[in-house]
Amino acid sequence: MEGCVLVRYGEIALKSDQTRKWWNKTLLENMKDCLEKNNISYSSITVVLGRLIVYTENTRKASIALKNVFGITSLSPAIKMEADFEKIKEKSLELSQDKGKKFRVSARRITKDFSMNSNEVNEVLGAYLKEKLDLEVSLLNYDFEMGVEFLEGYAYLFTERIEAYGGLPLGVQGEAICLVSSGIDSPVAAWLLMKRGCKVDLMHFKITEEGYQKYLKIKENLQKFSYGHEIKDYIIDGVPYLSTTKQKLCEKGKEKWVCIFCKRRFLKEAERVCKEKGYLAIITGENLGQVASQTLKNLTVLDSTVKIPVLRPVLTYDKNEIVEMARTINTYQISKEKEPKCPFTPNYPMTAGSIEELESIERMLWE
Ligand code: ATP
Ligand code: MG
Repeated sequence: MEGCVLVRYGEIALKSDQTRKWWNKTLLENMKDCLEKNNISYSSITVVLGRLIVYTENTRKASIALKNVFGITSLSPAIKMEADFEKIKEKSLELSQDKGKKFRVSARRITKDFSMNSNEVNEVLGAYLKEKLDLEVSLLNYDFEMGVEFLEGYAYLFTERIEAYGGLPLGVQGEAICLVSSGIDSPVAAWLLMKRGCKVDLMHFKITEEGYQKYLKIKENLQKFSYGHEIKDYIIDGVPYLSTTKQKLCEKGKEKWVCIFCKRRFLKEAERVCKEKGYLAIITGENLGQVASQTLKNLTVLDSTVKIPVLRPVLTYDKNEIVEMARTINTYQISKEKEPKCPFTPNYPMTAGSIEELESIERMLWE
């Protein structure tokens, strides 16, 4: 008998042989990085049909750490044993002690080499445990689940299933750069692209020291989901550009354009770094209609700034949905901390800018 973690994955299984091999390999590397960074020792990780199995003494600690590795759908701290039904009964009895009154057995044959089918195991093992421990079978509303998975001649027994985030292994979808502020939305935007397999690096414009300190803590939390990739960041002092630009806009009576100029500057800088370093896209935390300036018109004006794709993964989410995700990734508490308001924001920001007007203001400013 051996302690291990059963790792289940989702979409990888649907891919062609070649893609699956590559994605599995990436997932495996990311898992190793996660275990190493969390100081969890393990003897090996094997890739078997539809599962990855991590051999470790610290099955629970490993499962909790690995939850943050994208591509994984769920994990179970488990015991690997010979697929001998009498021994399975004995071990299940031991594992089911003090786990509650209502239970169900969930057997699954991943490979079909065990002589009983899953229904038979559910029934016979269920009846055995019910009688021995005076339990009650409840398929929907149970205190614990006695899981048994059969795989290549072995049985894996577990009573816990930890749900993970799914997505794709980080790294299989290239690299992008995310404009991250100290607010709630952009960290979630970065996380969502990481979840879909992108390696994400960050760019922050430092406008206030407080905002920058919050950003640093956000980055640290995002790193906890970026196994296989050390997040790089680009910090730019936003004050010189914004002071000069705001002053010039005020002189021309166009103060309300400050935010658009500011966001365009962000995008231009990000595009420059993308071209230089080979990132494929820019990510932002913009949403539709969340703040006065986030109109479809303004977003169009912003898009005209750069030739590289601008991805806005939280565009369509309601605020409470974004907050929920921010809580999950532990950035909400940080983003919510008080900080001084941006000193450059005008009282009435432009809500319906047009590209023509923007271009004429630009000409006016720099003539
Ligand atoms: P967030 O919650 O991410 O701050 P927001 O709803 O406050 O977003 P805006 O202030 O309009 O929206 O900013 C839009 C986007 O511009 C942000 O989501 C982020 O991607 C980027 N951004 C804003 N401020 C900064 C900054 N100081 N450094 C880098 N990017 C920024
Ligand atoms: Mg903001």
